[in-house]
Parts: sequence; structure tokens; C-alpha cells
Amino acid sequence: MADRRRIVQLDKSRVWHPYTEMSRYRAEVEPLVVAEARGSRLVDADGKTYLDGNGSWWTCALGHNHPRLVAALKQQAEQLCHTALAGIAHENASELAEALVSVAPDGLEHVFFSDNGSTSVEVAMKLALQYWAQNGRPERTRFAALSDAFHGETLGVTALGGVEVFRAPFDPVLLECAHLPSPGDPEVSLERALDALETIVREGADSLAAIVLEPMVQGAAGMRIYDAAYLRRARELCDRHDVFLVADEVFAGYGRTGTRWACDHAGIAPDVLCTAKGFTGGMLPMAGTLATERIFQGFLGDAERAFYYGHTFCGNPLGAAVAREVLRVYDEERILERAKPKAARIADAFAAMGKLPGVARTRALGMIGALDLEGGAGYLADAGWRVYAEARERGAYLRPLGNVVYVTPSLNIPDEDLDALLAIARESVEAVVRKGA
Ligand SMILES: *Cc1c(COP(=O)(O)O)cnc(C)c1O
Repeated sequence: MADRRRIVQLDKSRVWHPYTEMSRYRAEVEPLVVAEARGSRLVDADGKTYLDGNGSWWTCALGHNHPRLVAALKQQAEQLCHTALAGIAHENASELAEALVSVAPDGLEHVFFSDNGSTSVEVAMKLALQYWAQNGRPERTRFAALSDAFHGETLGVTALGGVEVFRAPFDPVLLECAHLPSPGDPEVSLERALDALETIVREGADSLAAIVLEPMVQGAAGMRIYDAAYLRRARELCDRHDVFLVADEVFAGYGRTGTRWACDHAGIAPDVLCTAKGFTGGMLPMAGTLATERIFQGFLGDAERAFYYGHTFCGNPLGAAVAREVLRVYDEERILERAKPKAARIADAFAAMGKLPGVARTRALGMIGALDLEGGAGYLADAGWRVYAEARERGAYLRPLGNVVYVTPSLNIPDEDLDALLAIARESVEAVVRKGA
């Protein structure tokens, strides 16, 4: 058994945690020390188990340590762990790109590999900027995104982001991005969101390189779910004004919202699609950016037109082997089809929680259920963390977003685990409301 005390002591003296104010963390937080995980459960250093309501930071679509993914990883590790991808080909990158294109929305024909969700969107931004720069529209250097958007953490994509605390320190140095009223914001009507979208594309087309959207659900904004009509209008407007539409499916893809791609809800295909997280079933850091033939063609014919971009671990054989196996598991275990009744269970449970005192509103889409606790909003609000503490006592891990409590478990979570998770979520919310009153 791992020595929990030593791990925490070293952690607090040496490890700088992501998204964490470290003085409070050091003084007050007793972190979960995860030692193992299997299926829908985490096991801590003392052997206690927790239902993973968070799908391991939204990545682990097939559960932890799916035996087929572990086997694919082991086998590949014995054969080839790393090779450069510049000028070298390998079976897993080739077959993965082919398999991905075959399940991608129409027209996405080429795959650029990178390491994580942020870089998959960074690639999309650079493709758009360079495409226009060398194909007759160099003045197209701006982007548009939704208010409260989240597209990752590199400096480029930080410009697209709208979560205030993630963005504010870098504001003076960011690329130009117009932030649109979000159709997922309960204060904004769909009508108003569509009007604002239309205005920005019509009036800004000359300077816009791309519109970047998290289709159907804005994850980090607080699991804000919106109407597919917005995506359809975005597609129409981008077509009419010849602006690129980038779909950041890093979180929403791979069936998270109930269809393979969130864009499928609207029946649209973007010009660029970004995938990560569920792409490797959350097992390895790996991402893909898919682009149309037109965009690919825009980089051909002359050394100076090439896309001079890459990462050391682009298309790495381990990640690619696992990502191939993920696609096979989706097919052979009929993951999308079998998640449908699970999604319905989530939707029912959250609708019922909407009647609890202290709950302002609820929503659900696919394998996501979310509720807003009454009281302050925003990433730093802390009622959600009280629910986290209650859930942890009861054997579930529920990482909140401010006052938004949500579940987004693996797509293949067994029904009994899902029911237990939903019951714990409900009891934990009730306990916090009771104690707060
Ligand atoms: C998580 C996320 C990212 C960033 O992915 P990382 O792998 O953490 O860099 C980008 N876009 C969306 C929509 C995400 O949810």
C-alpha cells in the first residue's frame, strides 16, 4: 500500500498543482491520493474506493484501465515507443488517421497530430491564420468565440477563452478575439445569441480567420448546454461569408453528448475539428486536428507555404496504438448505443434534483448532467466544493466548477454504479443545502 503521508508531504512541498491556489491548498486541503483505478472506480492509498463522477477529468470515456486499451499499450510498448513523425511513417499513425477520417464528419480528410487538447486548438488557429495569410486574405487575423469559452491553456488559445480567472493575467498580450453572447448562458436568449453571431460574421468577415466553438456544451463554463440551431446558423454564416468554422470537440466528442461528435446533433461538418481527451480513452496525452481538403491544399506547392509546426511526440506510437484500439472498442462494444439508456438515467436524475431546495437549475445532454446551486456564480464560487466534500465522504469523486455540480462518467459505466453515483450526487447536494440553511 502506498504511503499516503509521505506522498502528501512531498506533494505539498514540491508539486505545483494546476488550477490551484497553493497556500490554501497547503494549509487546508487533504488531497485524495489515488493509487489505482479500474472501470468506474478510483482506489485511494488507504484502499477506499470512489465512483469517478468526473470521468478522470472528462477523458476516460471507456472507464479506467480498460483491459483492451491496457493490452494495446503493453503490446505497442514492446514494439516501438517513439519515433519522430517528420518524414517518418508508422503503422499506428497511418491506420489511426484513416480510421478517424472514416468516422469524422464529411469533408474532414487530413489529420494533424499533437499532444493535448490545447495544442489541437492551437493547431487549428495557426492553420486558419496561415491559410488566409498565404491564400489572398492576410487581413483575416481575428477570431470569434463564445463568452466563457474554454479552449485550453497555450497562449494562443487563451485568447479564445472567456473564463475570467484563466484569461485575465494575460489579457494585454492576447490575439484579438470577439466574444459572442453564449446561447448556453441562461441570461441570453437563443434569438439574441443568433443575432449577435450573424452581426459579427456579416460585419467582421473581412478580418475574421475563424469562429471557434465548443459544440453543444461549454464544459469549463459550467456545463452550459445549448441548442443545435446555433451550430447550424454558425455553419450557414461561415459558408456565406467564407469564414472557417472550428469545432473544439476535445470534451464533447467521442459520444460525450450522446452522438459520436457533438456536431452531429446539428448535422453539420466543421472546416476543422479538434479531438483529444476521449480520443485515447484518457489513457495517454494525444490529440488530433482534422482539416478539409481545401485547407490542406492551401499549404502545398512551395516550401514557404508548408505548415512549419510540430511537437516531439506528434502521432506517437503508444498514443496512436491506444487511440486505434479506442475506435475498435467503440464499434465492437457498441459504446454509443449502449450509453443511450445511461444518458436517460442521468437526465431523469438531474431533472428530479431540479426540485430540491437550493438548486437553481439543471440540465443534461448525453453523458453529462449538471446543476447550478443557488448563490454566487463563477469558477471561484465554493458551494460546489462543499458538495465535493460530502460526496467524497460517501464514496464518489465529483469535482465541481464553482457552484456547478455535474457528473460526466465513463460512457460504459455499469448501471448499478451510475445509479449509486447519481444517488450520492443527490444526497450530497441535499446535505450541503441542509447544512447551509
Ligand atoms: C480540456 C479541454 C481543452 C484542453 O485540453 P488539454 O488536453 O487540457 O490541453 C480544450 N478544449 C476543451 C473544450 C476542453 O474541454
